Amino acid sequence: MRKNIVAGNWKMNLDYEKGLSLFSEIVNMVKDEVVGNQEVVVCSPAIHLYSIGKLASPVSNVAVGAQNIHQAESGAYTGEISASQVKSVGASYVILGHSERRAYFGETEALLTEKVNAALAHGLAPIFCIGETKEERESGKFFDVIKAQLEGGVFHLSGEEFAKVVLAYEPVWAIGTGLTASPEQAQEVHAFIRERVSAKYGEELANNTTILYGGSCNPGNAKDLFSQKDIDGGLIGGASLKSRDFLDIVKVFN
Ligand code: 13P
Repeated sequence: MRKNIVAGNWKMNLDYEKGLSLFSEIVNMVKDEVVGNQEVVVCSPAIHLYSIGKLASPVSNVAVGAQNIHQAESGAYTGEISASQVKSVGASYVILGHSERRAYFGETEALLTEKVNAALAHGLAPIFCIGETKEERESGKFFDVIKAQLEGGVFHLSGEEFAKVVLAYEPVWAIGTGLTASPEQAQEVHAFIRERVSAKYGEELANNTTILYGGSCNPGNAKDLFSQKDIDGGLIGGASLKSRDFLDIVKVFN
């Protein structure tokens, strides 16, 4: 059975105290209101990870994650943070391949392969993001783009390794724009992704793979999106910064 996950991506928002108070609210609301089997993940800036990891650890359905790691084990990489460091403060996930990192920090498939390997080597589950730009959607080549991102970023893994990966379809044109993919548009791509995973790793593993949707997901559209057959949850940006909105999205799986 595949897991339903609602993950928040705080991006570069919230100073330390504000992050802690938002996370405390989220944990309390999860304890009071979540009755399903969904997992709640918060991917915060690195400064929050240790403290929110401590708050999350007694709560079985809440986990924390980072938004990036460096690919090397350790060493002279000023300003960077390693997979083992992230793991050591209680994180269990890391977002990799986010379109903002691909676009603003020049992250290529070759680099992402190394980051995925580093994450898995230290027991962090990658939330691996893929998705096309507006131009790629309009020109109709988005399936090719998504196929190449999958093949380049995660299809080098063994089946055992791939089983730990969460995929996130985030159309770039839908991120932070208010332009959500329609449930049908998202489902079409999710089905394609699952079909590619099945061709590579077999049907059982494909059926067990969690594929999240991300891009202007909010309490008003989450239900329609998550009720699609191949959409197993969401990766939430803006709406994850408000505890009520985030929990309303989480509760779609109650
Ligand atoms: P928004 O929900 O703000 O569109 O961001 C989505 C996203 O990039 C999550 O990783």
